[in-house]
Amino acid sequence: MHITVVTLFPELVAAVGESGMPRVAIGTGALTVDTVSPRDFAVNRHRTVDDRPFGGGPGMLMIPETLAAAITEARRRAPGARVVLMSPQGRRLDRAAVQAFSETAGLILVCGRYEGIDQRVIDAMVDEQVSIGDYVLSGGELGAMVVIDAVARRLPGVLGDAASVEQDSFEEALLDHPHYTRPDNWRGQGVPPVLTSGDHRAIDDWRERQRLRATADARPDLFYQRGLDDRARALLTA
Ligand code: SAM
Repeated sequence: MHITVVTLFPELVAAVGESGMPRVAIGTGALTVDTVSPRDFAVNRHRTVDDRPFGGGPGMLMIPETLAAAITEARRRAPGARVVLMSPQGRRLDRAAVQAFSETAGLILVCGRYEGIDQRVIDAMVDEQVSIGDYVLSGGELGAMVVIDAVARRLPGVLGDAASVEQDSFEEALLDHPHYTRPDNWRGQGVPPVLTSGDHRAIDDWRERQRLRATADARPDLFYQRGLDDRARALLTA
């Protein structure tokens, strides 16, 4: 899969490939990431990429022509890629959206700066808008990096143990269960005995029960969306 990030701060985005699953995905060739800067298409000697908003008001906007030229270059590099604008006005990013992105051939992630971008570029060139939460960031780069990291985890062959992704939070609308590693006694706190019992069926049941309880406590919305099947009911009443 190929992702091009349209950004005025390519050096920020480059950091996403330094660690974790994006690094693995890039290393194995499952993912390629590059950047295009609107500033490279600026025509005046100050390399201007912003201007004041019509109608007045605070702040500046990214001007349409340099941004459109950068998106056009990104499309040239990745024909057919979806153009996704990082935006607080967008649909909230969730597991399903990440999965859908990971099944595409490519993405162009457009990062706004200043007060945002000219609406005509959105109308003419953007396929969808994505928000990473109900708060406002200085620019779209951190959001684009969130998308890249989450997508990289889901690309085939990237996670060493395919089961890890299935146990992640939000799979099957459940949060993850607690995890423990050595030592088996840390500052007077032990480990749930079932985890050292060697009984794999009992361990699976314990983990599933913890996932159900954690979800019911922290995310009742997910819990009710999921509903209770016979196994879940049996685990919770055991
Ligand atoms: N005036 C805009 C508003 O109130 O919605 C905020 C613009 S923000 C300072 C600059 C850019 O950061 C946006 O164009 C967008 O690309 C990005 N951004 C800010 N918050 C975001 C969020 N929650 N999710 C995704 N991108 C965000």
